[in-house]
Amino acid sequence: MGWLGLDDTDSLMEGCTTYSFHLLLESLPTSVTVVSPRLVRLWPFAQHRTRGNAAVAVELLVEDEVEFIQYLEGFWNDHLLPTKGKISPSQHDDREQYPADPGMVWFSSQQPAEEFYTLAVQSEVDLTQVPTADRSWGGQGRIGATAAIAWRQKRCTWEAIAWREINRHGQLERAVCEQALTLVDSMPSTFLSRDPRKGTGLVAPRGPCPVLFGVRARDSTSALEAGSKLLAAESTESTVGMRVFVTNQATDDHLSHSQKATVAHVEILSRGNCVITTESGKWLAFAESGSVKKLAQWLQPGDVIEGYGLSPEFGVLHLEKLRVVSAHPTQHRPMCGECSVRMKSMGKGQGCRCPKCKQRTDDAWDSVARIPPAESWVQPPVDARRHLARPLEWEDSTDSSSFMGNQ
Ligand SMILES: [Zn+2]
Repeated sequence: MGWLGLDDTDSLMEGCTTYSFHLLLESLPTSVTVVSPRLVRLWPFAQHRTRGNAAVAVELLVEDEVEFIQYLEGFWNDHLLPTKGKISPSQHDDREQYPADPGMVWFSSQQPAEEFYTLAVQSEVDLTQVPTADRSWGGQGRIGATAAIAWRQKRCTWEAIAWREINRHGQLERAVCEQALTLVDSMPSTFLSRDPRKGTGLVAPRGPCPVLFGVRARDSTSALEAGSKLLAAESTESTVGMRVFVTNQATDDHLSHSQKATVAHVEILSRGNCVITTESGKWLAFAESGSVKKLAQWLQPGDVIEGYGLSPEFGVLHLEKLRVVSAHPTQHRPMCGECSVRMKSMGKGQGCRCPKCKQRTDDAWDSVARIPPAESWVQPPVDARRHLARPLEWEDSTDSSSFMGNQ
């Protein structure tokens, strides 16, 4: 028994680590048994991240390790090493592209420590921090490959991935049956298959990669069933194969623990992007984040909030989930009992006076409760999610606390 991991084989046209991995598993010697392939999403802000930012690994039962290592050596030299140095295309033009630097690792008896997984999904990791494998090949990709093996699957979801016929690799148009997708989306266990607001599918990637679709579910049986439904539909294009991966998507593994903080200042930037300054740093709600943005824009100094997010650098939190714990009330001068007109301050310590009847009172404030636009946790709409946060509609995704009222 042992663990094999692979990462960073993305490259133009041929590129996708899952596809390279599928080919590797397909051609394994017959003395090797595949247990359960896994797809592990890594730190989304990693400098050298690959396009999909996912590494793959598998537990294998190996009868003849000498023969197996020879097979890996051959596969590495023939199929993986040639991807080194190729630049993968990005859907995001704003970031620098690093050439592929594939890596493959083999741990023959035990998994590396779980701490390495946590480190690799929540922070920048470099090669010097990677636990030593029994055998390893290549460069930068060894980070993700090792992290994928180190994952302990405390929480997991599943994804059935199908790959296109080789003559279609590089083409942008994909044919996945719309009706079958609607059916798949209505299965209780699938998630993030369709965008209910736009009515568009979310299973097919954009760009030239060899993946036809990836359909996500909360259990392996449903992932397989959903994938098979899509494959069987007449208007879905033909594929070279499909595999169900266990994944760390939608597990909250990449997110910080929830944090509570008091709002000091709220700034609304262009397009509605919102920066909340708190005593524990700046919390960012992006324009695309829907209800999160709306709630963030509503906040005022003194409000107590709780959030989960990704922290690209110390003191910055990109919000994935947000709620108001308590809202600071708005303060007004009291109304005049006679005229129902709001009284005005006469200056510090001078009391208030009705502008109409000139009646005076002591210096006083009326508190008016503020009711937030959402009374519990909010999250971005499905098309704006990173597939890393656990959806709120799943039980126990967060504690069930809701708005406590005004302080
Ligand atoms: Zn009055």
